[in-house]
Amino acid sequence: MRIIDVHTHPLMHEGGIGRPESAALLARARSLGIRHVVVLGDVLVHGRSPTAAQVRAINDDTAWLARKHPGFVTGFCYLNPTLGKTAVRREVERCLELGFRGIKLEIANNARDACMQPVMALAEQHRLIVLQHAWSMTKIRQRRFHTDPEDVATLADRYPRVRIIMAHLTGCGVRGVLAVKPHANVWVDTSGAAPEAGLLEFAVEQLGAKRILYGSDVPVRDFRVAIARVKGSALRAPAQRAILHDNARDLLGLP
Ligand SMILES: [Zn+2]
Repeated sequence: MRIIDVHTHPLMHEGGIGRPESAALLARARSLGIRHVVVLGDVLVHGRSPTAAQVRAINDDTAWLARKHPGFVTGFCYLNPTLGKTAVRREVERCLELGFRGIKLEIANNARDACMQPVMALAEQHRLIVLQHAWSMTKIRQRRFHTDPEDVATLADRYPRVRIIMAHLTGCGVRGVLAVKPHANVWVDTSGAAPEAGLLEFAVEQLGAKRILYGSDVPVRDFRVAIARVKGSALRAPAQRAILHDNARDLLGLP
């Protein structure tokens, strides 16, 4: 079964994976049947709110990977929305020239915040997919800058024409699936924490298999565990194929 991984960080400098080491990680992906990866960047290397120059450096690394592995890597443009409209527009325009197809948002701000307006307007204008970090964080009291599933739902409601991937099925849980259920412009990726029995099946029952995308979050998580989360589920082969490959192919417009 061919696989597309929509959530990877092949460069993670603090984890000891620099440009030379990234080749081995992507070779491992290919050996496991992965035919394409979405690269989101080493998003926390400079902390949760990087400067414009730091954002550029992260995206330059992604562009380097895309050049090094043509046809295998799709880059998403990492942004810090709190830098403001001008900085955001400048970086999105630069990333478009680099051939990136989406936007990656982490924990610089909550997805409900007003600073998201220019980001989402640019996503809509250029038909960029937005992958938003999300996790059930209420108990940890970091919602000021950490996006919860309900915040993704709010974002999706405000921008119904933008295609949004809510990251981390396991981190978002049952609550997260139910929060985004009414919003047909939201897909959920299967990454986040260790697999949890029954959760993927629940997500398919609630959202349909078409709204779920396989993602690993390597090197934070392992490819094999991430793939086994889908292949070891009770889902039938057509649903597994949709999640592991076809949905991402259609969303990214890959051949
Ligand atoms: Zn990630």
